Amino acid sequence: MSQPQEFTFQTEIKQLLHILSHSLYQNREIALRELISNASDSLNKLRHIQLSDEQYRDDSPLEITLEPDKEAKLLVIRDNGIGLTHDELVQNLGTIAHSGSKEFLRTLAAKAEKGGEAPSADLSLIGQFGVGFYAAFMLAEKVEVVTRSYREQTGWRWESDGSGRFTITPVEGDVPRGAQIRLHLKDDMDEFTDPNRLKFIVRKYSTFVPHPIKLATDILNEQKPIWVEPKNQVTEEQHAGFYQWLTHHTDEKPLWHLHLSSDSPIQFHSILYCPPSNFELMGFGQIEHGINLCAKRILVQDDCRDLLPEYLRFLYGVVDSADLPLNVSRETLQDHKLLPKLKKVLVKKVLDYLASLAEEQPETFKTFYQQFGPILRTGIGQDFENRERIAKLMRFHSTHTANEATLLVGGKVDKSLIPSVSLDSYLQRAVEGQTQIFYLSGPDLDALSRHPLLEAFRKRNLEVLFLDDPIDEFALTQLHRYEGKDLISIDSADVKFPESTNPAETDELKIKPKNLTRILELFRGALDGKVEDVRESSRLTDSNCCLINPQGTMSNQLQKVLSHTMKEYEMPKRIFEINPHAGLITRLCDLSSNSDNDDFIRDCGRQLYANSLILDGLIPDVEETTTRSLRFMEELARSKSSIVI
Ligand code: ADP
Repeated sequence: MSQPQEFTFQTEIKQLLHILSHSLYQNREIALRELISNASDSLNKLRHIQLSDEQYRDDSPLEITLEPDKEAKLLVIRDNGIGLTHDELVQNLGTIAHSGSKEFLRTLAAKAEKGGEAPSADLSLIGQFGVGFYAAFMLAEKVEVVTRSYREQTGWRWESDGSGRFTITPVEGDVPRGAQIRLHLKDDMDEFTDPNRLKFIVRKYSTFVPHPIKLATDILNEQKPIWVEPKNQVTEEQHAGFYQWLTHHTDEKPLWHLHLSSDSPIQFHSILYCPPSNFELMGFGQIEHGINLCAKRILVQDDCRDLLPEYLRFLYGVVDSADLPLNVSRETLQDHKLLPKLKKVLVKKVLDYLASLAEEQPETFKTFYQQFGPILRTGIGQDFENRERIAKLMRFHSTHTANEATLLVGGKVDKSLIPSVSLDSYLQRAVEGQTQIFYLSGPDLDALSRHPLLEAFRKRNLEVLFLDDPIDEFALTQLHRYEGKDLISIDSADVKFPESTNPAETDELKIKPKNLTRILELFRGALDGKVEDVRESSRLTDSNCCLINPQGTMSNQLQKVLSHTMKEYEMPKRIFEINPHAGLITRLCDLSSNSDNDDFIRDCGRQLYANSLILDGLIPDVEETTTRSLRFMEELARSKSSIVI
């Protein structure tokens, strides 16, 4: 007999095995689901090979069998698929190639270290990250894989007790093509040899596996391609089951589904599912999965990324087209002219569906937008053709919805406040003659709603959208216009107030303080080289001053993002606007009659400029600003008296 060859698992797998064997995770059924799913993949691959190459065809039906043995405490999951060669055993059952899976494992390991145990919701994701096989160690103290590849005559036995090592030995005698996963069950895993229990588990998780799953002579699953059924004949329960099979998400229902059928110009059936939550938001990195592509009900590719754009990557589902040849290979599939056509139709249907969802089921749409809005809106920059459609789906906070009363709960900004203003609803409230859609972006809603630049807009009853995520602003900058109106940041000099909203020139406003020009001059001198200009403002009512971006420059927020990401980025100079009617400015105008006050006035200009920068989330010259405010305090302190009158 040949000696077993010994190997050690890659570090990440060792960590995973450690977590799995120490986990109190209740839902061990998923291990069976993963092994059946692997068997099914292997059968799909073989069918594909048989279709394209005659020499591998034979009469045996492709199937999965479960063989429980109560006495021996053994459960065998057998398939007659492609099997594994010696090298494939080493590669596929000993190392992890995908970077996404490694990241998943690292996150899992880090969480386990912190909390003592990995949260069960995370463990249930195991299949999705391409490490499902190892779930076998949740059930078994020892796992054997006896296998023969369809390309070879020799069979191999892979064996491990999950403690960091595995062995591979050649098997003498005949080994049937495919793989048998032999689980030597742990002591408390009797249920996995109980036929009724196995039937229950298979029906629950694997009913949509497209190959028969047999237990003795019974076929346990339905294998029904529900996507070719008429829409109204598919029950919610079937959808939930199919969704769970596709996603490996246990006990979860899709947030919504879209069932499509078309005969021309392309023939296809499709069901697309949206999960109820976005796990990218949970810190597991990018979603990495595609759509199942079938030709006449038979799976051609299980992870087709060419059917939906990046910004819809969170959808699961199946697309089945009779116009696709069955034996198409992955390589030729990529160039197949049908894919871009299918993609175009699917994208349009999904975006239209979302628009109707917003109308008809606003609560569901809200949840959808909260979870997937961040991914969806990146589509504006990626998909020129559909950008207006995507923009229609975006939602914002605005001066209309986020006033102080709605914003604050117990003195703190209510983070759960879901944005609800669409560009369309904004336009319905637009005032006569309004040619621009106004927005203000910044890091948090609280600061945004108090920004001095809003004064003029509130006074004129003009709504301003709040963008508290830079992605929103990138999206709007790329969109540029919506329904014929320019999208514009209110810190820009390009803002045009509609004529109808200009306040009547009251006498009070007409009277400018004396010496205003002198103040502007002194400020200009003090801020020479720092600002493009200092000028009188028509947009402020209460605040002393604000900073405006010259025409055609980016908003503050975008500039900030750029300066963080590009070292060499230099912020453009801004225009410093001052409000002649504000108390301090009027007083400074008075004081400027005496040139002894010039230095003080210049200092005030510098300090006001520093304050404006801070309000915009930018950092002024720290040394200079702190020294100056200290000097102000010292002067004030000197002018006060300690004598109690
Ligand atoms: P995934 O299936 O998501 O790639 P797994 O950890 O479940 O991740 O399996 C790793 C690899 O082992 C599979 O990609 C496949 O190449 C191989 N494999 C697993 N089970 C089988 C099987 N029953 N037949 C053939 N190959 C298999």
